[in-house]
Amino acid sequence: AKDVAANSYRLFDETMNNQAIELVSMAAKLKTAIEKNEFSLYLQPKIDFKTGKVRGAEALLRWFPDKGPPVRPDLFIPIAENTGMIVEIGEWVVREACLMAKRIQDLGHPDFAVAVNVSAVQFKHGNFEHIVLDALYVSGLEPQFLELELTESLFLEDEYDIAGQIGRLAAKGISFSVDDFGKGYSNLGNLGRFDIKTLKIDQGFIFTMFDSPKNTALVEAIIGLAKSLGLCTVAEGVEDEKTAAKLREVGADYGQGYLWSKPLPIDEFIDFVSPARNS
Ligand code: C2E
Ligand code: CA
Ligand code: CA
Ligand code: CA
Repeated sequence: AKDVAANSYRLFDETMNNQAIELVSMAAKLKTAIEKNEFSLYLQPKIDFKTGKVRGAEALLRWFPDKGPPVRPDLFIPIAENTGMIVEIGEWVVREACLMAKRIQDLGHPDFAVAVNVSAVQFKHGNFEHIVLDALYVSGLEPQFLELELTESLFLEDEYDIAGQIGRLAAKGISFSVDDFGKGYSNLGNLGRFDIKTLKIDQGFIFTMFDSPKNTALVEAIIGLAKSLGLCTVAEGVEDEKTAAKLREVGADYGQGYLWSKPLPIDEFIDFVSPARNS
């Protein structure tokens, strides 16, 4: 028994070690990924349930290292956050997103809006207000067409004047949404302190919407809550017609998901919103 224990200990130790090595090497590669132009920003359409038309898109970061396979954002974003590199990467993302949105508007979609994911770290250590305003200025995009998606944990923060930073940017016309709403520790009282326009209902609720009447009721309740607070709703992870029909029926404002499109590189996205350009 002693031998077995010793072996399993060694095995465990080795796995830990490999994980640590992988983390460090990924962090090192991430460091040069901007200079080497290895990032790409994809766009996923948001559909207006009332008109059936594309209202805007969420910008989603993709990393294609020169060597090796693509790395999923779920894997590299946390490393970028922990090392602080998300500040520089996030600056690139917001600039690129504004330029893309302006380009799409100029192709004949004057109301097109882009949504950008923002990490808490960017608010804490990033001269964030300046970066956002500069990205708008450089691109020529008007502030009402930029939306920043924040996760619920940010609204628990009391430091760094986050409510103030959001308030000042909102006063300039930029809008804010709560991402993955309902997934984390929703502190509704806390939410009230912030200038929020939209709740993005976490895709977990959407995937399981028809599993039980209670789950359906939950989605309806979130939409009802949003409406009574004067907030818009976006349902994420809409994968089939049945789900879309139900969401439309219960009054969700916008939908996003594979039913309409997965996230696309800019050229494919432009074809998606302007199919006529192809003919
Ligand atoms: P998120 O902000 O919640 O983004 C939604 C995720 O769901 C995206 O994954 C999207 O591709 C995926 N998705 C969209 N529609 C469907 C659907 O119908 N079904 C399913 N199963 N999935 C769907 P992605 O692109 O892998 O991004 C993962 C997460 O990485 C994002 O979650 C976001 O938290 C983070 N992320 C991505 N880009 C950025 C960025 O530029 N900055 C920051 N800070 N985080 C980012
Ligand atoms: Ca998001
Ligand atoms: Ca989300
Ligand atoms: Ca998320």
